[in-house]
Amino acid sequence: MNSLFLKSFIKCKRKAWLDFKGVKSYEVWSAHKAIDKVNQYQIFSKLCNGDIYTGLKACENGYEGVIGLKIKGKVFQDIYAEIHPQLLLRTKGISKWGPYKYLPAVYKLGHKTTKEHLIDLAFSSIILESFQESKIEKGLVISSFSNKPKVEEIYLNKKSRKKVLNTLLSLNECLEGFMPEITQDRKKCTICSWQKFCDKEAKENGYLTDIDGIGSKTASLLKTNGIYNTQSLATCSEKKLGEKLSKFNDQKFEKASIFVKQAQAYISGEPYYIANKNDTYDLLKKTSLGFYVFDIESNPDEKHDFLYGFLKINNFFTKKEGLIYESILNLENNKSESYRQIIKILFSNKEWPVLHYGETEKIAIINIAKNLNFSFKEIDLLTSRFIDLHSLIRKSWILPLKNYSLKTVSNWLGFKWVQKDVSGSKALYWWIQYQITENEIFLKKIVQYNKDDCLATLQIAKYLIKNHLKKN
Ligand code: SF4
Repeated sequence: MNSLFLKSFIKCKRKAWLDFKGVKSYEVWSAHKAIDKVNQYQIFSKLCNGDIYTGLKACENGYEGVIGLKIKGKVFQDIYAEIHPQLLLRTKGISKWGPYKYLPAVYKLGHKTTKEHLIDLAFSSIILESFQESKIEKGLVISSFSNKPKVEEIYLNKKSRKKVLNTLLSLNECLEGFMPEITQDRKKCTICSWQKFCDKEAKENGYLTDIDGIGSKTASLLKTNGIYNTQSLATCSEKKLGEKLSKFNDQKFEKASIFVKQAQAYISGEPYYIANKNDTYDLLKKTSLGFYVFDIESNPDEKHDFLYGFLKINNFFTKKEGLIYESILNLENNKSESYRQIIKILFSNKEWPVLHYGETEKIAIINIAKNLNFSFKEIDLLTSRFIDLHSLIRKSWILPLKNYSLKTVSNWLGFKWVQKDVSGSKALYWWIQYQITENEIFLKKIVQYNKDDCLATLQIAKYLIKNHLKKN
């Protein structure tokens, strides 16, 4: 047993089991994990003013920060375990190494201090205490605030240590047993390295949470009404189901109809067309004289859009080779220049609409326009040119898919990204690598990825138009 399994266990029991016993070839590299590691190291290093070293020797020499340590020890009576503290931070005190001691510290992304942070600190403190022969009263949660380390002190009492012991006992029981069920809260799966493995099983077993719009609460509501899987949902009467979905108030019948059709599409593999003549016709009409496709790469934690990409398209029949792609890098210290370039592109064809996928792009443009002191009227005029294809496809089609993300929809349409296994998180990982190394290769990868995102968006627009023409 070690602290890594314990952390996984707090997130999802099945994840702890898979980390311990799962077939490693089914696990995929997680960009989130890698980004977390880099951010973690950077903030710890800042906190220790660079006085941060690895291993036991660093403790003996009394360095400010120590990372990469693994310590085995007794937790309780005959229970032994191993901790991998993210950081040990030197403080006043007396330990076996001299007139100082260490406190365990963990990195926190975002604002919320969670059970995972508390248990991690309490667990580390139990083993570290006897290892350094010095009492530990508190642990530290480190986060980044305006690019500076922020330290939160967590006092560790008997209660928190008892919680560790109970969790370790449950973990032990879990690791010795059969593989636990897939978690009810499938949101957790989006950043998990076992996602592909679990998704496959969920689909085979007809998990209700595979249906777009059905979360853990709606899934349990359906189960209490005798609908246990996607198959039974697909054969449900929409009217009867609507009567059971009173929690959705006025929307209950509409929701029921979407859930049933979504389940039918998911099982059959066939898309379902919702008559939506007006919006798609509008898309066809507005794009007839040319249009842009716009896509942004961003770092949501830093609220920073680091790359803007535009495709200029004269019409839907323009061949791939004839498309003009332009990317604009948005460096923190030169934002006004990037904004100027974006506005220049958008105003070089004032009448052209801007196709994008999701809300991010429109919000970013509103912020840029505000930053450049555009009037309300000018902002309205500019944003009225934006057409969100994500919202349009959801209004027009029920697709045989688990979700309506750009990747999922365009992959289903046969679009292939030039680089394998890419995602927004991977682009962010490359961006972080670029900032550290200034190696242009990372920038090239981001630009290629963004260009493909624009092309994928274009493919969705073509699907909407082509099928609109077929149906009407
Ligand atoms: S993918 Fe989801 S269910 Fe599977 S291990 Fe990860 S969090 Fe748990």
